[in-house]
Amino acid sequence: MRIDLHNHTPRCHHAEGDMEAFVTEAIAQGIEVFGFSDHAPLRWDEGYRMGADEMDGYESEFAALKAKYAGKIALLLGYEADYLPTKTIDEVYSRKVDYLIGSVHFLGEWGFDNPENIFDCFGSDEFKRRGLEAIWRAYFAAIADMASSGRYDIVGHFDLIKLFGHYKGRKPDEAVFGALEAIKKADMAIEINASGWRKPVGEQYPSAEILKLAYELKIPITFGSDAHAPQHIGAKSQACYDLARSVGYKEAAIFESRKMRLLKI
Ligand SMILES: [Zn+2]
Ligand SMILES: [Zn+2]
Repeated sequence: MRIDLHNHTPRCHHAEGDMEAFVTEAIAQGIEVFGFSDHAPLRWDEGYRMGADEMDGYESEFAALKAKYAGKIALLLGYEADYLPTKTIDEVYSRKVDYLIGSVHFLGEWGFDNPENIFDCFGSDEFKRRGLEAIWRAYFAAIADMASSGRYDIVGHFDLIKLFGHYKGRKPDEAVFGALEAIKKADMAIEINASGWRKPVGEQYPSAEILKLAYELKIPITFGSDAHAPQHIGAKSQACYDLARSVGYKEAAIFESRKMRLLKI
């Protein structure tokens, strides 16, 4: 079973290709369960996510595609919602969707994964200015808080903080264990997200070491291309599946109306 639950649409203002082009590409790739999870609205960084007034259009366009392609591919609806409690739009959490991906893209008001924000206003490298150690701990503490909030189904790109390559070779530590324990307690799944292959770090999220720990804790996995264009769909998917199987996983999670179901992979 090929599953891909993390995919964007142009409504977030930094993706391209209409929703139907994503669906036809997924079918061409042999994907059997495909989910849209566009960036949910947030009272912050609005240039990189859909507006609150666009949720209806996103959901109705999805519903039309789901009907049109029934029997050819199973389509699921989700959002990737930021964990940023002071900027949250609560309505996101009550939409009738199949799943919510919870992601940390911000530490305070710093959007650390946006290359435009890697430097502060004085031109200094924000990673150096804040300190790699402090950033690492703050990031995984935010992931643990996100899980403990109980508002999400899937952890988005678990170790995204490594994307620019700052933490090469770093082993999982207490900060990582704490986040994994919170995820386990919240009955969430972790995605194997292929988009790290498009970033300087050049590997999936999470690392193989972290995935082994997740397996030991019996945390379910799912898969996501994190496509921001149809041509991203399925890239490095084989490597992600091979990794999952090498760690021991035989099943992966999908979600329907916020309920998890495990499928053989
Ligand atoms: Zn994005
Ligand atoms: Zn994301």
